[in-house]
Amino acid sequence: MFSLIIPVYNEEDLIDELASRAINAVESFTSNYEILFINDGSTDSTLRKLIKVRKHFSKVKIVDLSRNFGHQAAFTAGLEIAMGNYVAMMDGDLQDPPELLAEMHRMINEEGFDIVTGKRKGRKGKRLRITTNLFHAFFKKITVLDDMENSGNFSMLNRAAVDALVKMKETIRYLPGLRSFIGFNQGFVEYVREERAGGEPKMTIGKLMLLGADAIFSFSKFPIKVCLVLGLTGTIVFMFAGIYVLFAKSFGFALFGWSSTVLSIYFLGSIQLIFLGVVSEYVYRIYKESQNRPIYLVKKFYDTDTE
Ligand code: UDP
Ligand code: MG
Repeated sequence: MFSLIIPVYNEEDLIDELASRAINAVESFTSNYEILFINDGSTDSTLRKLIKVRKHFSKVKIVDLSRNFGHQAAFTAGLEIAMGNYVAMMDGDLQDPPELLAEMHRMINEEGFDIVTGKRKGRKGKRLRITTNLFHAFFKKITVLDDMENSGNFSMLNRAAVDALVKMKETIRYLPGLRSFIGFNQGFVEYVREERAGGEPKMTIGKLMLLGADAIFSFSKFPIKVCLVLGLTGTIVFMFAGIYVLFAKSFGFALFGWSSTVLSIYFLGSIQLIFLGVVSEYVYRIYKESQNRPIYLVKKFYDTDTE
């Protein structure tokens, strides 16, 4: 059986086109499938539209979350609920072309991959292209993960890989990172990322920045390294400054105004503030993880057995 997971958050304009394209794409390679729409606390008519689609296509199932948990949490819900021995994750705004699923399926089936990820070789639309590229280049430099560049959520995994991913219980989740972390035999298909088929982006700039921060803090020691380097540089600079001060003092040409004093206070003060900020970020993350709250909560699962 094949499962396709699609998180949707206020996508009422897209549901009909999305559902029909997804169904057609999946039916081109299998008739034994389920399409799991994860309704991530939509406040528009998304759920009603999905229920309507479900009337005609009982293989379309809906996981209705109790509120908006964010799209990484929504994908996680799908991964835990999906029953397929192949499972795919795809955005609900048709930026990931469902027609590519057939090729992913073929690669897993015939070429012996456990995971096939869509790699963007370009994207239509200007929104965030530069920032996204910069982020991926930067992230590649600082992380221990390989082969992450330009891949997002769009991917297909076999059962073993899904089980591995589901075992990662951390609350703060960056799925592309986790998917790379678990290993397995990973393959790629290149595609051009389409523009959103309609509606507004649901990942606001703020949400994207948070996701970027999650990626960096969860998969690299970069922030700690920056602190160490800054701290070391500061120490060395001020060691020489200290020697100079002693020297000046003992040869009697010390005429110190406030500028050097004030500057060093500013400098050290701000370094300390940055360090405190980074340390707090880690403390916050430890705190979040230790709360051990569920990643998502389901209000209702519309599948064949329950209604
Ligand atoms: N999404 C979601 N919950 C959220 C934000 C987004 O389920 O809190 C869904 C959204 O409906 C879409 C997918 O996640 O299907 C990707 O969102 P979007 O297109 O806004 O992200 P971007 O393409 O800008 O990364
Ligand atoms: Mg999108």
